[in-house]
Amino acid sequence: MSADVSSSDFFRAATNGFSETINACRTRPELVALLCAQAFDGFAQNVAIQSQGEPALACHGECEACCRLRVAATAPEIFLLARFVSVNAAAFAERDVMLLERIADADRTIGGLSEEQRMLVQYACPLIEGGLCLAYKIRPLACRGHAAFDKASCVAAARGKDVETAVSAAHLMVRGLVQNALMAALRRAGLAWGLYEVSRALHVALSAPNALEQWISGRDPLALARIPEFDLVEAGAIFDAAGE
Ligand code: SF4
Repeated sequence: MSADVSSSDFFRAATNGFSETINACRTRPELVALLCAQAFDGFAQNVAIQSQGEPALACHGECEACCRLRVAATAPEIFLLARFVSVNAAAFAERDVMLLERIADADRTIGGLSEEQRMLVQYACPLIEGGLCLAYKIRPLACRGHAAFDKASCVAAARGKDVETAVSAAHLMVRGLVQNALMAALRRAGLAWGLYEVSRALHVALSAPNALEQWISGRDPLALARIPEFDLVEAGAIFDAAGE
């Protein structure tokens, strides 16, 4: 999105781009990876443009402070993470990183917590190991969109302290636009398009037989993990008004 392209034009173009991918690949196993690659590339390219002139970020991938907050992701992002866990669980287990057990524990402990409750318990995302995200390259848009200018105040705020912390408005804005465009395209295609709490959704995706196939057929196997305050009716009306 260049400086002279409006947010609504970007949203419509991005939605159409996701729709083209869905139409071309709906029955192919790589649909999830292609949609996520499109979302992550679109985020990176546009945030680079929109953040020109902002101060340097304090986030360089080595801080886990915000990985104790609730993460809301779309179904393709959840299924991509689930595939990563399935493929790598045995290799991680050899290093005593028991990912499947961690994800089940996380679901039991934090899967149903609100954003405020989650901040109070300070329970780390099950994908954190040694302070690093095991799935950093495929982390959801929500994780990419949280970018701070000052580490100390960001860490304090993530721990629930009442401090001002400056975050990148460009990252938040582009994350929202790309995530909304992806959801609008999923909705247009009749696919489940809500937002899901990552720990619970991952557990469901890894446990439910044929969860990905169910999702591709138009059902919502991740429904148990839906973020309750994300109102599908309201969001759908906003997408309609935006002319997607
Ligand atoms: S997916 Fe990775 S970046 Fe996102 S909260 Fe979990 S550990 Fe942190």
